[in-house]
Amino acid sequence: MAYRPTIGLEVHAELTTRTKMFCDSPNNPDEARPNANVCPVCLAHPGTLPTVNKQAVAHVLRVGSAVGGTLADYSEFDRKSYFYPDIPKGYQISQYAYPLVAGGTLAGVAITRVHLEEDTARSSHRSPRRGASHDEGAVSLVDFNRAGVPLMELVTDPVIHDAETAGKFARELQLLLRTLGASHANLEKGEMRIEANISVSKDDTFGTKVEVKNLNSFRSVERAIAYEIDRQTKALEEGVALVQETRGWDEGKQQTFQKRFKEGSADYRYFPEPDIPKMKLSEVPEFSADAIAATLPELPWDRRARYAALGLKADAVEMFLNDGFMASLFEEVAEGAGNDAEIMRLAANYIASDIVGLLADNAAAGNRENLKAASFLALMQMIKEGTVSSRGAKDVLRELYASGGDPASIAKAKGLVQVHDEEALAKAVRDVIGANQAVADEYRAGKEASLQFLVGQAMKAMKGAGNPGKLKELLIREISK
Ligand SMILES: [Zn+2]
Repeated sequence: MAYRPTIGLEVHAELTTRTKMFCDSPNNPDEARPNANVCPVCLAHPGTLPTVNKQAVAHVLRVGSAVGGTLADYSEFDRKSYFYPDIPKGYQISQYAYPLVAGGTLAGVAITRVHLEEDTARSSHRSPRRGASHDEGAVSLVDFNRAGVPLMELVTDPVIHDAETAGKFARELQLLLRTLGASHANLEKGEMRIEANISVSKDDTFGTKVEVKNLNSFRSVERAIAYEIDRQTKALEEGVALVQETRGWDEGKQQTFQKRFKEGSADYRYFPEPDIPKMKLSEVPEFSADAIAATLPELPWDRRARYAALGLKADAVEMFLNDGFMASLFEEVAEGAGNDAEIMRLAANYIASDIVGLLADNAAAGNRENLKAASFLALMQMIKEGTVSSRGAKDVLRELYASGGDPASIAKAKGLVQVHDEEALAKAVRDVIGANQAVADEYRAGKEASLQFLVGQAMKAMKGAGNPGKLKELLIREISK
């Protein structure tokens, strides 16, 4: 029997709030000056008291509601004790026995719990310079801007059995956090951090659990899991015992490496935080399950289903779900068009191909801010009505991207408006024949090239707005009269 992998994920996300978790210091991840956003509370000065950030609690409850979890009636904070220079109190305020959310499902993966805690400070270490004297040796610095930033921790059940499912779950969680405005959730910036617990076993019991950290992209999550499944399976096949440990992911070598042996949870000496009152959430009207559910926007999976029902292609759907600009452009156009199916199909195609192309084209000067929904909608209507050809629409779109404006005026100025008015076309044809009788005679005598000249003259007369095929047809009819 083959070894079966079992994976559980732990995801931390920095929440977007005005202030930190337990004090009034600003929560600004972009603050570049070290130790600018600090106060006696988050620096753990003696005698200070933490107060709970309501906005952070609301974010976690909204995540819980979105995934169908049970929101706690009663919740409390606990102290998780350990010593490290980036944890000034000597403990982290977290939640242990009474998390804010229990249960729920996301992307088909069962969620164990979602709780709230505080982030640590950031340490940076500088190695001694080569040949430096003792005084210029190693330096460690601590920046407390991040200390006390609200941090959500979500733990899944150990129910994942392959790397792909883990990656899919993580991507869907990022999308949910962004949709809810709960976190910017950038992995590269450490706003969302994923840890994977991986074990392999031949039977239904769990094998020795290995935790992998430092996964700062979805690809690393998938690759690290695949690597660990492979490594652990090979070790067991060779009769080598595995140890419970924490491993890191080396992006360059594409392999995991040992960081430290894992401490059990008992080592943290959890006990209820005595400085924060217990939270009776059911007594706060805005935190009731109904009130929280009422604040939720359209959730990613609902939006995905709605777009699919509109007949949008799968790749366009995922693009709109993950790109706020494209999504709002599409939504505004759809609304403006009164959900006209033809307009929405055109808009989805032009956004997903032409606009994406323009944004990616370094040679195309412009700015996406120039692409206003109203003018984009007007262009889609012109395409639908046949006022511009699809070729002409691309030129108009390029101009809109470059400098904004009104698509009808742009099309007119560029001679891209297609005239369907038979009378206008017929008049142009008569005028051209009248002015070029000799050439018309040549065509009557069998000189095909003469017709091309006349079509060119008629196009010129129409300032490029005539359909060449139509003009040719009218010319032949007029000359044959
Ligand atoms: Zn503070």
